[in-house]
Amino acid sequence: MQRIRMMGAAAILVLGASAWLGCAAQPEAESSPRPAAAAVDSDRLLNADAEPGSWMSYGRNYSEQRFSPLDQIREDNVGDLGLAWSFDLETKRGIEATSIVVDGVMYMTSAWSIVHALDARTGRKLWSYDPQVAKDKSKHTCCDVVNRGVAVYQGQVFVGVLDGRLVALDAATGGVNWEVATVDPKLPYTITGAPRVIKGKVLIGNGGAEFGVRGFIAAYDVASGERLWQFFTVPGDPAKGFENDAMKMAADTWNGEWWKLGGGGGTVWDAMAYDPELDLLYIGVGNGTPWNQQIRSPGGGDNLFLSSIVALRPDSGEYVWHYQTTPGETWDYTATQHIILADMEIEGRTRKVLMQAPKNGFFYVLDRTDGSLLSANNYIPITWASHVDMKTGRPVETEGARYENKTFLLMPSYLGGHNWHPMSFNPQTGLVYIPVLDIPANYAQPAAGFVYRPGVANLGIDGPTSGLPDKQAERDALRPLIAGRLVAWDPKAQKEAWRVEHSGAWNGGTLTTAGNLVFQGTADARLKAFRANDGKLLWEFPTQTGVVAPAMTYELDGEQYLSINVGWGGAFALVFGEYIQPESMPNVSRVLTFKLGATGELPEVDWKPVVAFNPPAQTASAEQIAEGHNLYQEICLGCHGLNAVSGLLIPDLRGSALLHDQRGWDNVVLGGGLRARGMASFADELDGAQAAAIRAYVIEQAIRGKRVQEARAQ
Ligand code: CA
Repeated sequence: MQRIRMMGAAAILVLGASAWLGCAAQPEAESSPRPAAAAVDSDRLLNADAEPGSWMSYGRNYSEQRFSPLDQIREDNVGDLGLAWSFDLETKRGIEATSIVVDGVMYMTSAWSIVHALDARTGRKLWSYDPQVAKDKSKHTCCDVVNRGVAVYQGQVFVGVLDGRLVALDAATGGVNWEVATVDPKLPYTITGAPRVIKGKVLIGNGGAEFGVRGFIAAYDVASGERLWQFFTVPGDPAKGFENDAMKMAADTWNGEWWKLGGGGGTVWDAMAYDPELDLLYIGVGNGTPWNQQIRSPGGGDNLFLSSIVALRPDSGEYVWHYQTTPGETWDYTATQHIILADMEIEGRTRKVLMQAPKNGFFYVLDRTDGSLLSANNYIPITWASHVDMKTGRPVETEGARYENKTFLLMPSYLGGHNWHPMSFNPQTGLVYIPVLDIPANYAQPAAGFVYRPGVANLGIDGPTSGLPDKQAERDALRPLIAGRLVAWDPKAQKEAWRVEHSGAWNGGTLTTAGNLVFQGTADARLKAFRANDGKLLWEFPTQTGVVAPAMTYELDGEQYLSINVGWGGAFALVFGEYIQPESMPNVSRVLTFKLGATGELPEVDWKPVVAFNPPAQTASAEQIAEGHNLYQEICLGCHGLNAVSGLLIPDLRGSALLHDQRGWDNVVLGGGLRARGMASFADELDGAQAAAIRAYVIEQAIRGKRVQEARAQ
């Protein structure tokens, strides 16, 4: 373990501490003294259903159902829901966190891994903690500088920081108790997921498989931060020996020299669930590095444990079983999506099931005792496979889906049929509420060949082919195909019960409650309540910004609150500028908390998304522009958008004054001149000629954008 720092609890944010003490010193009518902050122990976590007024862990309890037994807000009065309080966040980047609420305090995370503790009754800030992530760490983020939340335990708040640190905060003051580097800080690992605490150990994985890392999950002692175990998800260089038998088994399913191309990938960047009775921890494992298996593992192989659900012993990290959703993954088909545990009667027997709707478009029901497949069916239209063979548990792939020789139109795309946005399961309706994406993408072998570039995206597919068509009419024709909907899925029947089409893609996670409700925020800036059994829209609230996070609910002093963190962002928001609706924007990041009868209002937002094009004349050759196109699609699009069309959370390069000045451009792209604002230096990856080629490509796109804008104005 790399231990970097240990501090006393009061080292940081003395102001926050005094605010807390001030609050505690004021006795509240009819209530006993405020309990100790986040006095959560293993018993409370195991018995989360005994205190439905709290939301003590990421998915509310270890089964991660995101079902609340609270029913004061219900289908016949949800129309009276109004804004009780709001809290403005300091960022204009994506907000993905689920808030934790326990003992009267809300703990949530903002972009850049910043933590806020708020009075859950009023939204008054108790303390904040900013880990001061270096802004050019954004270079290693595939999908925005987001964070999905904290874990709490025995008076501490745990946050995974974007740069790979795990930090334990004093829940009462926000002071740092300890912090550790969970990864080698030189490597392009990131943390965006929420930690979990199981049996006194805090668990965290990481991301970075687009760039080139070796995925793992590790457990840390809650008191000291000492690393107790580490489980790698893909094998390392066999010549160096294997960490355990699971890695030896996995290595037999790989070919070539994957460890030289960044480490194989397989990051554990989101899903975890725990069954205390079986004493099994379930993790979801991500895609390979590079995506393209022909490059990563020439000759094929299953490439364990990419795109798998893996069961481990939480005490030791020992491997127990796995189920691989996408053998030989070659499309960015992660199985990191939300995992839900439930006990369900299937064919007359109560089964302990595990459910997941990973990116690849199939909804899986597994027996979580041994990982055997009970059923699978596609929850969206898919092109890469026809079905899952129930004898082998493997998908039956479509001819050509591996894009060996020619371009393949893949459905779903690399964004998946379902991404990180949590789904939820309502035991009363028996339905799973999935925030579905329905977006195609073209995959082809890289025409210009593949060069592994340490520290930047290494996808191994042809960038221009997977981008947007050049003709605007063709781009416009694709618009209806960039879809998103709420799907209520019957996991027993493996079929859709009902659906609600949204006006665009990348809508929020879901919450379901005993009030026969499903809550979901949308890309077109609304929070909506639907009737859980049939999808009837019952209530909506204008959020002024696209919503990607899921709602949560809690109860205090006999009143039920509904809370959601809003703020447009994430992968789609950065990459698909061409198809983002104006209503998604701008990013207005806030905590919004509602209760029955409240009438709060938000201040007006006045903002119009317009890019001012003023490009210079093109002086580069067609070859230079083509080279720039390739490089842009490989290195730049993750932040600045497909084909240089920005989602506007990050500046649209087509409107940049630097297009007029190669030296100024180089000062930023190679010299790191805007490092403090999040634009890293790419001097290690690009030479001067390549930086100039990218500028030439962006000038070409600016000229194009200006032409389209003028045509639309006429
Ligand atoms: Ca990925």
